[in-house]
Formats: sequence, structure tokens, C-alpha cells
Amino acid sequence: MSSYRIQGATADWEVVIGLEVHAQVISNAKLFSGAATEFGAEPNAQVSLVDAAMPGMLPTINGECVRQAVRTGLALGAQINKFSVFDRKNYFYADLPQGYQISQFKHPVVGEGTIVLDLDEGASKEVGVERIHLEQDAGKSMHDQHPQFTYVDLNRSGVALMEIVSMPDMRSPEEAGAYLTKLRTILRYIGTCDGNMEQGSMRADVNVSVRKVGDPLGTRCEIKNVNSIRFVRQAIEVEARRQVDIIEAGGTIDQETRLFDPNKGETRSMRSKEEAHDYRYFPDPDLLPLEFDDAFIEAARDSLPELPDEKKSRFMQALGLNDYSAGVLVAEKEASEFFETLVAEVAKATKKDAADVAVKASNWLTGDLFGALNKAGKTIAETPVSAAQGAELLALIEDNTISGRIAKDVFEIMFETGKDAGAIVEEKGLKQVSDTGEIEKIIDDIIAANPNQLEQYRAGKDKLLGFFVGQVMKATQGKANPGVVNKLLKPKLDG
Ligand code: ADP
Ligand code: MG
Repeated sequence: MSSYRIQGATADWEVVIGLEVHAQVISNAKLFSGAATEFGAEPNAQVSLVDAAMPGMLPTINGECVRQAVRTGLALGAQINKFSVFDRKNYFYADLPQGYQISQFKHPVVGEGTIVLDLDEGASKEVGVERIHLEQDAGKSMHDQHPQFTYVDLNRSGVALMEIVSMPDMRSPEEAGAYLTKLRTILRYIGTCDGNMEQGSMRADVNVSVRKVGDPLGTRCEIKNVNSIRFVRQAIEVEARRQVDIIEAGGTIDQETRLFDPNKGETRSMRSKEEAHDYRYFPDPDLLPLEFDDAFIEAARDSLPELPDEKKSRFMQALGLNDYSAGVLVAEKEASEFFETLVAEVAKATKKDAADVAVKASNWLTGDLFGALNKAGKTIAETPVSAAQGAELLALIEDNTISGRIAKDVFEIMFETGKDAGAIVEEKGLKQVSDTGEIEKIIDDIIAANPNQLEQYRAGKDKLLGFFVGQVMKATQGKANPGVVNKLLKPKLDG
């Protein structure tokens, strides 16, 4: 059960959410033409005659896009449909030169699957995926280029999209956010979509309805093309509130398509909801149905890397990480790869088992490195300290060359300069002093210089032990091995 409470409404109202995510397929060419798909090209620089819908041009299916959709389905544990069909979805848009979109309707390429949401405090929840179908993207109308005219950029026309449709299983803005976060993580792991919402390569249509707990599903409104996870959460909040207000005032919800305005914090009606029959769907006569054999599906399955959920449980079971750290590390593929290299290198350098160094490596990575990256506004891909360099630092702590305290200072210099830990320790003379003779001499000097404190200590003021430890550390600029200091100091103070 969700504990989400619609703002300003009584607790017996529940919000119901289903998401339709458009994810741009990673592929060099478009779904039915050889034109390039790279982001940021000059307008209309990536348009073939097929994408511009010149008369007589014929679409040719791009096998790579199909393979990517199948890989996505497999990563979501979904049914792969061995038989699927492309349909024409007819409508008029200035930026849709064909006058129809080639999509899939009755026979999508992928059927039912699941996404496991990672919620607060280690909780999780399964959300159903109803289907994934392949379709073409439209072009883009540009209204802000000229005072009288609208321009059209067809670079996106014909680019392959996967429409990933969820079941109406989510019950709060947080769950919708967790769904998008997890879906994006999976797509990035398997390399089928880059998940960059700000560049438009992942967009969500957000379906929202409200009901009294236990009632049948209410009438939904669909909020189109929301382009950030934060806006999805906000849109759900304001839309749920709007619907509750209408119903409580005795009104009913009209099923319609709405737009979210993040500046005003409201949704606005765009058009009343169209039904499937409005589009006059029919199988595209220019394209054969897709038919897969088992070998094609199995090859796609074999091409999948270890998925985030599998990786997370391996990090917990084999390496002893807790749920939280494992979750943080697998959320981004680059972070999990950094961690694995780090652990392997520390284990190699210290001749220890991976499981014996993994927790320390995870603490350093999620604490020190992520903290520094965060502060510097950098991603893990831009880290000035590589996994091998981090491993050298951790190995220096493991073999007692430097203390954990000194390591913090060394790391700061590494992060600023990109230099290696060993070189910094050498250059600045930061090696930990573990030599008993040397430390003993320093202890003797300090005891001799502080007769008052010694007297008070011996008279029962135990707390002064800390004072003496501090003096030794100060005299050695923090380099004395704390273990050795403690072992030598106490017997001398006790006399
Ligand atoms: P359409 O293709 O017309 O948009 P679908 O039946 O395919 O309609 O549903 C689209 C999305 O709406 C799905 O993600 C589904 O989970 C969601 N949805 C369906 N009914 C509801 C509802 N009552 N409240 C919220 N979301 C819903
Ligand atoms: Mg829809």
C-alpha cells in the first residue's frame, strides 16, 4: 500500500498512474531509412527521400532497431512476440510529411514484462509493462524562427522510437519517478537508448486518474511529452489535485489530452481524447510482418550484459555491501564499472580477497569520490581520479603506509592535480611512522615536557590519554601509526 496523500485531499483518495515512455533507439540509421540520427545536426541535414515522404519512396526495415527493441524486451523479462506487424496510424501534422506514422498496433514486437522499482529504505515494488512497440518519430515544427512563418526540421522524422507502455500500477509521484529512473538505468546498461530526457531522447506521456480507495479505476487524463522526471512528479501532483477538486465539487472528469506548464504549475487541456478508431489504423502494405526464429531471440539474449538488479544482488551477496550502497553503485553503469575495477585492483595490490576490500572500496567511492565529484559538478565519466589511482590510495591505507586521516588529504590533492597517491605521499613525506623506536622517543619527549598532565593522569584523570595521543600526532604531523602509539603510550603513562 502506498502512503501518498493527494495534496489538500482526504486520505481516502488514491492516484493511479500509467506511463507511456517514448525512448529513442540507439542506432546509426533511422527505422526505415539510412539517414543519420545523431543529435544536434543542422536542421534538415539528416533527411532521406523516405523521411521527407517523397512520392513512391519505400520504407526498408532497419534490423538493428528491431534487435534493440527485442533486447529491451528481454531486459524487462518480457514476452517477445515472434510475429509482429507495422501499421499506419493516420493523422495530419505539418511535421509529419507522410500523413501517417508507421507504428505497431494489434501486434507489437514485445508483450508483457516487469520493472522493479527501488523505493525508499530498501523497499521495492513491481510495475507491469503492458507492451513495447516500434514506431517512427515525427519532425519538429519551429515557431520561433520567423515572425510570420513556421519552419519544419525533419531530422527526427523517421527516427526509431520504442514506446514502452506501463500498466496503471503506480500510486504516487515518487513511484512514477522511480519507474522512470529504473527504466532509464536499464536502457543505458543495455545501450538501447541514451535516456537523455533534456535532449528529448526519452519522453513520457503521463496518464493520471483518481479514485476512492477500493473503487474501480477512474477516468484518466493523459499529460503529453513531459521531459524530465521532476516535471513528471509535479505534473502528477497538480493533475491529481485538479481531478479531486472537480469530483468533490460534484463534477466528472473528461478523458482528454493535457499539457503540463512547469512555469505556472498547472496542466491545460490540449484536445479531447482521440480513440484508436480515429486513426484508421491498418497494416502498412509497404512492409512485411516481422517474424523471428529462436536463434535470433537467443542471440539478442546473449548480447545482454549483467543487468542492474542482478549486479546489485551480486554486490550484496558476494561482496558484502549493504542494500543502500549496492543500490547507489548500480544506479549508473559507469559507477558500477568503476567500483568493480577499483575492488579488483585493491585486491590485487594487497593480495586480499575482493570480499575483504569491497566495503572499504565502496565507502571510499560513494563517500569521498562521489562527494568530491558532486561538489565539483562532475559526473563519474569526468573523474580526475581513475579507478587504478583510487586503488593505489586504498592499498596504501591497507598496508599501513598512510593512515586513513592522511589519505583524506592525499585524495584532495589527487582530485585537484590528477597525480598518483604514491607520488604525493613521497613528495610530501606523508608516510606513516610505524617505527617503534622513533615513536617511543617522541613519546618520552612529550611525557617529559608535560609533567603536570602526567601527574593528573596518574591521579585518575584517564581522559588525559587523549591529550597525549594528540601531542604525539601533532609532533609527527599526523603520521604516527595510531595503533603503535596506543600500544606504546599507555604503559609509559601508567609508569
Ligand atoms: P491509449 O493507447 O489510448 O493511450 P492505453 O489503454 O494503451 O490507451 O493506455 C495508455 C496508458 O494509460 C497505459 O500506460 C495505462 O497504464 C494507462 N492507464 C489506463 N487506464 C488508466 C487509468 N484509469 N488511470 C491511469 N492510467 C491509466
Ligand atoms: Mg497513449
